[in-house]
Amino acid sequence: MEMKQIIQTQKTDNGPVRLPLDNESHSFDDWTISYTKSHILKSVCTNDNKCVAGEPNCCELCVYNFALELPHLPDMVFHKNVLVISHKSGARLEFNPMDALKLVRNEKLDLKVACSDEWKGSRQAADTQEKVKPFDWSFTTEYTGTVNDGIRVEKTDQKIDMFKLMKREPIHFYHDLTLFEDELHDHGISVLSVKVRVMPSGFYILQRFFLRVDHVLIRINDTRFHYEKGSNYILREYTHREAKIEQLRHVPPALFTSPNEIADHLPVISRINEKLIIVANDSEQEVSS
Ligand SMILES: [Zn+2]
Repeated sequence: MEMKQIIQTQKTDNGPVRLPLDNESHSFDDWTISYTKSHILKSVCTNDNKCVAGEPNCCELCVYNFALELPHLPDMVFHKNVLVISHKSGARLEFNPMDALKLVRNEKLDLKVACSDEWKGSRQAADTQEKVKPFDWSFTTEYTGTVNDGIRVEKTDQKIDMFKLMKREPIHFYHDLTLFEDELHDHGISVLSVKVRVMPSGFYILQRFFLRVDHVLIRINDTRFHYEKGSNYILREYTHREAKIEQLRHVPPALFTSPNEIADHLPVISRINEKLIIVANDSEQEVSS
């Protein structure tokens, strides 16, 4: 606690000292952009496996295990890493690992991988008490953030203008957070992260799920958000890209470990464009801009 206060007091707008913070908040017009971050979820129950679902003293690990029916969580779950975008109307967009993991399909992964039996076996051995059900051990998620009822989601043809976003602008606030990560027992990586950037013209968010199963495939589920100053909606663009490694023979394998570099080489499998419209608190009226 003391340390936290010391760190917080050293944060100044123009001072050179800028130590890592475990939370921060930035105001932009009618918006507040804030995050919290902390250590990873512990891998053992702190109550000696006596936690009961729904009870207030339930440990953080058990809260996850009770809420998710996954036989295994990713190696690293950053359960306290949360990004929140809130509007003065009450509208709220949030990114958290729990909601993302709720969308991992609890069913057998339809992917033939030489290593998978070995991999499952090692997980099984680590947890002999439990019968390991088939599950999507790639932790693939189609999570696109969590919105409250202050936001109405509509399909749109309007796309995010990437040229506008590439325009040079001062960056007033930037942060990136990892929500979960798993190294697939040294057979690749599965990671979900989110980053936010606030500029004078608006804000931009990129949430990225990156999966690489070595020698098998690469998948990227990106969700981009763009809010332009003065408008009453945020554009959301979800893109699922993937390719089998055998389709990527023309690409230098060095790029396989770099999501930014490999993304352009992966064909788009699906794309969804939506508008997140900010609605007023007490009615379904859209907030005027
Ligand atoms: Zn527990």
